Amino acid sequence: MQVKECNVQTSSTRIVVIGAAGRMGSRICALAQHDPGVTLAGAVLRPGSPGVGTSVFAGNSSLNYAGSAAGIAGDVLLHFAPPGVLAGSIEHARAARAALLVGTTGLPDDAVAALRSASGELAVLLAPNTSLGVSVLADAAARAAGALGPGYRASIVEAHHSGKRDAPSGTALRLADTIRRVGGDLPADQVLAIRAGDIIGEHTIRFAGPGEVLEFTHRATSRDLFARGALRAATWLAGRAPGWYTMDDALGIGADRR
Ligand code: NAD
Repeated sequence: MQVKECNVQTSSTRIVVIGAAGRMGSRICALAQHDPGVTLAGAVLRPGSPGVGTSVFAGNSSLNYAGSAAGIAGDVLLHFAPPGVLAGSIEHARAARAALLVGTTGLPDDAVAALRSASGELAVLLAPNTSLGVSVLADAAARAAGALGPGYRASIVEAHHSGKRDAPSGTALRLADTIRRVGGDLPADQVLAIRAGDIIGEHTIRFAGPGEVLEFTHRATSRDLFARGALRAATWLAGRAPGWYTMDDALGIGADRR
């Protein structure tokens, strides 16, 4: 099936979204339409999916859903499809000489190893959380923990909607790990989870010491925050030298912790 490209402008980053009909992929495609820094060059569905060949945007026939990324020229492939099909995305990125941003969570060790190996010849950004604010929160918390020292007990309280199964959230566990790596005092029983209502996602980190308490809170007000962050990171990643990158690199933070 032939995929037509949108008006490709040299100044904008051409992105190819793998998993384009998923919850994340569809929002990335929708927001890309309104982002002048990005051109949606490919929207890829599961092979054989009934949507293949249909128009991505109603009333705009310039781009059709594809059943494969093969032959689509782009600057960055954004993988938001299951871990089991990541090898195909690595191959397509190689063939297109494109960078690869992977937003899929829960990658098995062998998939991470394959990405590490591909980063020898591709720019690879692994971002299980593409929220800009969560990266900034982690950076702020690490600075605070490092400066305050072990006399300040850290804790994390996270809240999510009642449908979320895992608790504590992967983000809370990553924040805890970040704090511990800089010597923060954060026992496992001080990471608490609330599951209630339709809360999109909240994470509060507290540092309590003699006579004072510091609090840092990130509160998601829209699920689009992940899609927006993915677009910002993709724009940053385009044209980068082969290597291993994270959201911190895209935001220019956290360099002193590596
Ligand atoms: P989803 O199930 O809604 O979407 C995945 C899509 O991939 C589906 O539409 C599926 O048909 C498609 N797919 C399957 N095989 C494919 C193939 N070979 N080629 C192309 N597409 C294929 O899931 P989701 O909620 O969009 O989440 C996707 C991933 O992103 C999950 O791992 C999720 O945990 C993760 N996620 C990451 C962030 C972040 O900040 N990075 C945020 C939310 C979710």
